[in-house]
Amino acid sequence: MSGRYSDHDVEHYDRPRRRTRPRTKERPTYDDAEDALVVTVDRGRFTLLLDGRTVLAMKARPLGRKGVVVGDLVRVVGDTSGDDGSLARIVEVTPRRTVLRRTADDDDPVERVIVANADQLVVVTALADPEPQPRLIDRALVAAYDAGLQPLLCLTKSDLADPETLLATYRSLGVPWLVTRKGGDLDELRGRLAGRTSVLLGSSGVGKSTLVNALVPDAGRDVGRVNAVTGRGRHTSTSAYLLQLPGDVDGPGGGWIVDTPGIRSFGLAHVQPEHLIEAFPDLDEMTEDCPRGCTHGDDEPECGLDEAVREGQADPLRVQSFRRLLEARSESAY
Ligand code: ZN
Repeated sequence: MSGRYSDHDVEHYDRPRRRTRPRTKERPTYDDAEDALVVTVDRGRFTLLLDGRTVLAMKARPLGRKGVVVGDLVRVVGDTSGDDGSLARIVEVTPRRTVLRRTADDDDPVERVIVANADQLVVVTALADPEPQPRLIDRALVAAYDAGLQPLLCLTKSDLADPETLLATYRSLGVPWLVTRKGGDLDELRGRLAGRTSVLLGSSGVGKSTLVNALVPDAGRDVGRVNAVTGRGRHTSTSAYLLQLPGDVDGPGGGWIVDTPGIRSFGLAHVQPEHLIEAFPDLDEMTEDCPRGCTHGDDEPECGLDEAVREGQADPLRVQSFRRLLEARSESAY
């Protein structure tokens, strides 16, 4: 191979220098690499969106064990035609703005990144049929706050039940919310999704698929290959895929959603209490004088949150709700 031959060459002429500084194999530079967006991942194959076309790719060796996930902005080389049978290579992952993680389950400390670069986590919950599961909502909120994503409660089937009971639980946390109902318009939801990347999360039967289909009516045509890969309802290793919302990103509409068909709940073993409270700056400020290692939970003897409540500086309901989230972190999902 010519590479090996030139290595010998270099070794010969550079021998004296080799002792002080080990010769490193020259890495190729990827000046000709193109930017692409990861749409979905399936068994080591990555579906990318590149210049409006769908391209299949694999990880190139220089990436090593570095993960590539849905929402990642990557640089690719090789056959980026997107033609049948073509396979491009991902050579670089652009630093991520945000990462949404999950631990496989609470006893398993292995944490995985599910989605990169999202802005918002939309927790889709039916108000009835099936009944809302506040513990699952709490856990989704913890994952969102930990990841630095804005949460949004999307309450479906408002024609079947009044949202007030459920909202009372979340109002003191200041979680944004909206309701939808069968046959109702989705203008408010579209407005909240416009111009950003939102992860949609919801258990089966809550109407998430209906929302996704209504938001992206031509999803099947635009990303036919993606659907062929993920096959909605079919069991695959794929747990998320990215869809572009219709509309101009700079004008009304636009934005991206990440559907998560395979994800019903979050393992949260990776979430640290000191990180969670940072999502609530007002409460965080009140914990400045907490004893070292205080988790700010109910059973902490000298937590600043209790003092703040006693002195009327903190809303007791807000503190209580924050502590409920803290507990949701360590509870089992089911
Ligand atoms: Zn504390």
